[in-house]
Amino acid sequence: MHVTMDTLVSLSKRRGFIFQSSEIYGGTGSCWDYGPLGVELKQNIKRIWWRDYIQRRPDMVGLDASILMHPTVWKASGHVDNFTDPMVDCLECRHRFRADKVDEMPWVHYCAATKGNKFTIPAGEPCSHCGERRTLCPDCGKGDLTAPRQFNLMFKTFMGPVEEDAALTYLRPETAQGIFVNFDNVAQSMRRKLPFGIGQIGKAFRNEITPGNFIFRTREFEQMEIEYFVNPRDTVEGKPADEYWHERWIADSLAWFQRYGLRAENLRLREHEKDELAHYAKRTADIEYRFPIGWSELMGIANRTDFDLKQHAKFSGKALTYFDEERKEHVVPYVIEPSAGVDRALLAFLADAYQEEEVRGEKRVVLRFHPELAPVKVAVLPLLKKREDIVRTAHAVRDTLSRHWPVVYDDTAAIGRLYRRQDEVGTPYCVTVDVQTVGDSDKGESADGKVTIRDRDSMEQARVPIDALPPVFLDLLNGGPWSAVASKYPAAKT
Ligand SMILES: [Zn+2]
Ligand SMILES: [Zn+2]
Repeated sequence: MHVTMDTLVSLSKRRGFIFQSSEIYGGTGSCWDYGPLGVELKQNIKRIWWRDYIQRRPDMVGLDASILMHPTVWKASGHVDNFTDPMVDCLECRHRFRADKVDEMPWVHYCAATKGNKFTIPAGEPCSHCGERRTLCPDCGKGDLTAPRQFNLMFKTFMGPVEEDAALTYLRPETAQGIFVNFDNVAQSMRRKLPFGIGQIGKAFRNEITPGNFIFRTREFEQMEIEYFVNPRDTVEGKPADEYWHERWIADSLAWFQRYGLRAENLRLREHEKDELAHYAKRTADIEYRFPIGWSELMGIANRTDFDLKQHAKFSGKALTYFDEERKEHVVPYVIEPSAGVDRALLAFLADAYQEEEVRGEKRVVLRFHPELAPVKVAVLPLLKKREDIVRTAHAVRDTLSRHWPVVYDDTAAIGRLYRRQDEVGTPYCVTVDVQTVGDSDKGESADGKVTIRDRDSMEQARVPIDALPPVFLDLLNGGPWSAVASKYPAAKT
C-alpha cells in the first residue's frame, strides 16, 4: 500500500506535525508551519545529517552563511540573468501558469458542438465532441493567454531604509553561494587540503509560479547542502578525482536515506540527459523517491566543475584558488554538490514510515520511524489517573527520562487509546505505570517497582524495574534489538 498525500496532510494537521501557514487568514497556499511534533522530526533530520556528514568526517567542516548577501553574488552566480521560468497569464481570470507546464494540466472547455456545455478534459487530450485542442486558459476556459514572459524566481527585497534600486538585493534562492564566497576564508582559517567539503543547512526562497503538493514544492524551504572541493588534476583509483568523488557521494547519499528508513524499492537514481544539464555541469544525478505524487527528486548530486569559484573570482577580483604543493601550481578546485531539501526528506521519511494494519479487527495507523527520527522517544502513561501514587510515579519516570530524550506524559484517555495515539505519531516505546508498580496497601499487595514497556512495532511488552529504564532505553534508542529486552525482562502472563 502506498499512502496518499491527502492522508499525510490530514494526519500532519491532526497530530501536530504540519499546519498551513497563516491558516486563520485563509493560508498562503505555498508555505507551511511545522507544529510541535513536526519541528522535532525536522530537527532530528538536520541533526543526524550534521552529525553524519560534518561531525563524523575528518574531511568536512560546517558553515552558517547569511540569507541576505551582496547583490553581485547573484550576478556572478547567473541567478539574476538565468534563474527564470517562462510564464503566461490569463487575460480573463488573471491566473498565471508556467508556459512549459500549461499543457500538463486538465483543461476547462465550453464545447460549441454541444451547445456550449462545460467539460474538464484530461491533460493533453482533445475534446471528444469537437476534436479541438486547448488554446485558451485551462482554468476558466474563456481567456486568451499572453505570450510567454521570463519571470525571475528570486524574491526581491531592499537592504537598509531606502527602497531604491541601489539597495536592491535578494533572499538567497540556494545556500550554495554562501559556501562558494567563503571558500578562501574556510580553506585558510581551517588549513584545509584538498579534497575537503563545506556543509550548510539553511533556508532558501524561490518565488515558484506553481508551488504545491504539500511541502514538496514551497516558496520558503530548507536545504542541506555540501560543496565538496577536489583537485581536478588528481586521480583516485584510476579516475579523475571529481568523477571518483561524484560516484562516492551518490553512493553515500543513497545509503544515508536507507539507513534511516527509506526502502530501497522507493529510491532510484536518475541521470540528467545532456540537454537537461546546466551549462557548467559535467554530470548531475538525482536521487528520486516514490512520493505519493509519483517518482520525484529528493536530492541532486551535481559536478559543478570550477564554474562557481571562477565566476566569483571574476566578479570580485579576488583569486579563489588552491596552491597544489606537490605540483607547485595554483588550481581552481572542482566541486561536487550533494544538495538535499530538508522538507522533501521529511515528506519522504513520513510517507515511508506510514502504515495501516489490522489488529484484532481494528485499524491501527503506525508511523514506523527510525528511533533517531521519532519526534517523541518515550510516552509515559498511568494506567489509572485517579490513583495519586500511580500518577506521581509516572511523572517521576517522565522527569528522569526527559533528561536524556523527548518524553511525553499523557493521561487523557484509556490505555488502548493512548497506545494508538502514540503509534500514530511514531513513538517507539510506551511506559505504563500500574497498580503493581506502586502496590496496593488496602489489598496487602506490595509494590514491585517495575513498569511495562511496550514496543511500537511488535506491540510486545516487557516488565522492567524503574531504575533500569535509562540504560534500557539508551540501548534500544541506539538501535539495540527489542528481543534482548523482551527476553531479559519478560512481561507477566496475564
Ligand atoms: Zn482564465
Ligand atoms: Zn469540444
